[in-house]
Amino acid sequence: MSFLSKTLSRVKPSPTIAVTTLAAELRAQGKDIIALGAGEPDFDTPENIREAGKAAIDAGKTRYTAPDGIHELKEAICAKFKRDNGLDYSPAQITVNSGGKQTLYNALMATMNPGDEVIIPAPYWVSYPDMVLLAGGEPVIVETSLQTNFKLTADQLEAAITPNTKWLIFNSPSNPTGAGYSRDELKEITDVLLRHPHVWVMTDDMYEHLAYDDFEFCTPAEVEPQLYERTLTCNGVSKAYAMTGWRIGYAGGPVELIAAMRKIQSQSTSNPCSVSQHAALEALNGTQDFLAPHNEIFVRRRNLVVEKLNAIDGISCPVPEGAFYVYPSIAGLIGKKTPEGVEIDSDETFCTQLLQTHGVAVVFGAAFGLSPNFRVSYATSDDALSEACDRIRAFCETLS
Ligand code: PLP
Repeated sequence: MSFLSKTLSRVKPSPTIAVTTLAAELRAQGKDIIALGAGEPDFDTPENIREAGKAAIDAGKTRYTAPDGIHELKEAICAKFKRDNGLDYSPAQITVNSGGKQTLYNALMATMNPGDEVIIPAPYWVSYPDMVLLAGGEPVIVETSLQTNFKLTADQLEAAITPNTKWLIFNSPSNPTGAGYSRDELKEITDVLLRHPHVWVMTDDMYEHLAYDDFEFCTPAEVEPQLYERTLTCNGVSKAYAMTGWRIGYAGGPVELIAAMRKIQSQSTSNPCSVSQHAALEALNGTQDFLAPHNEIFVRRRNLVVEKLNAIDGISCPVPEGAFYVYPSIAGLIGKKTPEGVEIDSDETFCTQLLQTHGVAVVFGAAFGLSPNFRVSYATSDDALSEACDRIRAFCETLS
């Protein structure tokens, strides 16, 4: 019998991290690789935030803090929820964690019992199903489609709910598709939830500030205040403030749930990094002026990538509302062969062949639960994106 836990056999390692690692290895071997796998902005953390971190070190803010965050940061998070989302939370309803990932993990660990179901629309962020499994629950995957721009419909949600459903995990704008729900689209989802009072919603608003054109971000408890008591509104500073390495995520929700999450954190990691908490305080309270210029750059890159990919025979790529990903379909290429005779029988084969023959690293759709697609992260330079799309086109043209 294995020494390792049985729970571990239920989960797989993160495929996005695997692709990034493989691309780095190939690069170390001297290969010319363009990596479009990583889910992080290529900008530096803004200066005012970096300075706040340095000042915190010099001021000796280097000791343990309260397990789920310093009071000032909780107050700043309450102010942010009020300012951006019109939501009223008090500090007792706030938890601060080591990244948005830990927020979601704590919430699932605090609530899952064997047999509990969690509805996860696909394509999904890779960690959702595995976190549910680690916490002892059952992911219920609901596949969306290109026709709805990868958005869950009210009918699909209604059909997926059972007496065992505990949570719906909702993510808009989405990783991996960039799709964002309009207020009307979200209202259709919250109307279904209103009819099922035992179902809670864990909304992952990580990409809130990365919204483009005239898309207006909204979050479930704002769209349907009657859901406030059964919503965990999750967010973090990683993406909007280019702070992925600082590891600060947070959530607002009912006091009892927040206290349960605190208990998990106090017996596992304890407080998120004290210095990072002070930097996050500046991120939320300080100037937001860099968000708009960053978004301008992202929009330009999104347009470049979508246009170039759609010009390739066999690829179809919707224009997403936010985040920094596109999720093109390669349905038109399945069944074709490479010059070496390898059949493109799946998006995984497509991505492996693309990486090996043309040096572009993207993540295959099966990793996100919806095929045949791949995810491009466009959080890299225009030149690299342009060259990568040219290589993808060159690769596709070799297929017959
Ligand atoms: N939620 C989504 C949708 C994400 O894409 C990510 C990171 O890729 C996270 C949560 C986790 O963010 P963090 O780096 O703060 O843990």
